Amino acid sequence: MKFKNNHIVSILNQKGGVGKTTTCINLATGLSMKNYKVLCVDLDPQANLTTSCGLDPDDDITMMNLLSGGIPQEVIKTRDHFDIIPASIALSEFDVNYSSKMRRENLIKKQLEPLEDKYDIILMDCSPSLGLITVNSLVASSSLLIPQQTEFLSMRGMELIFHTVEMIRENKLNNNLKILGILQTMYDQRKRLHKEVKETILQEFNDLVFKTTIRSNADLATAPSHYKSIFEYNEHSNGAKDYTAFIKEFIKRLRKEEQSHES
Ligand code: ATP
Ligand code: MG
Repeated sequence: MKFKNNHIVSILNQKGGVGKTTTCINLATGLSMKNYKVLCVDLDPQANLTTSCGLDPDDDITMMNLLSGGIPQEVIKTRDHFDIIPASIALSEFDVNYSSKMRRENLIKKQLEPLEDKYDIILMDCSPSLGLITVNSLVASSSLLIPQQTEFLSMRGMELIFHTVEMIRENKLNNNLKILGILQTMYDQRKRLHKEVKETILQEFNDLVFKTTIRSNADLATAPSHYKSIFEYNEHSNGAKDYTAFIKEFIKRLRKEEQSHES
């Protein structure tokens, strides 16, 4: 059974290198292996998702064209498992170019609307910032997924994310935005600090934390250089096992969210 509603999920943490893009690729691929139709949107000018999919971020047609009124069908690239709207360095000008425009927080939402019915789920790979483009992503999204490294200082960053979500709700930019959950990543059980931070995050955020923790796994870091997801690169790795467990939980949570929406 597919989802009852279309979902748009922002994958966000303003801290860099916490596993947003890795989660996006593997979640997208895993969902597609379960026959969900997935679109990924690369909203990061670093264009790591775009590059990991074997696409050229210097290509002319990217998310930036879509925002300036390009034709969506031309912007969308088809890969084996999912479609993608690539990013380019030009996205770094987004905040400057659009900050004085009317309804500037709704630009991405408006552009994605005609595409929503074509996909079961749209995943937005955000950049490590809380600027206008990230706000746009949150305004367009039904839920927010927060990858979180089990490292020192990771708790402080969470406050900022929660504050941003609160601001979006308070300003009535998106009253429906739900925090789907926190996914702990790059966990090394041999490190005492990781264990401690993992416990602290659990105590602080309880049920919001996914039961699955993504362990630190070299295959997860190597797979993108082969333009592969972890499932294609090494299906027996810990990374593949962890993301499989996470995807199960992820689907369950979205279904639960749909039920609470109905009642
Ligand atoms: P940015 O904020 O720069 O966009 P990000 O949050 O998207 O970063 P990733 O690019 O997914 O983070 O991950 C950062 C680095 O860590 C990458 O080199 C990635 O391959 C590696 N990595 C991600 N998850 C794991 C993991 N569980 N184990 C080992 N390496 C990982
Ligand atoms: Mg990234």
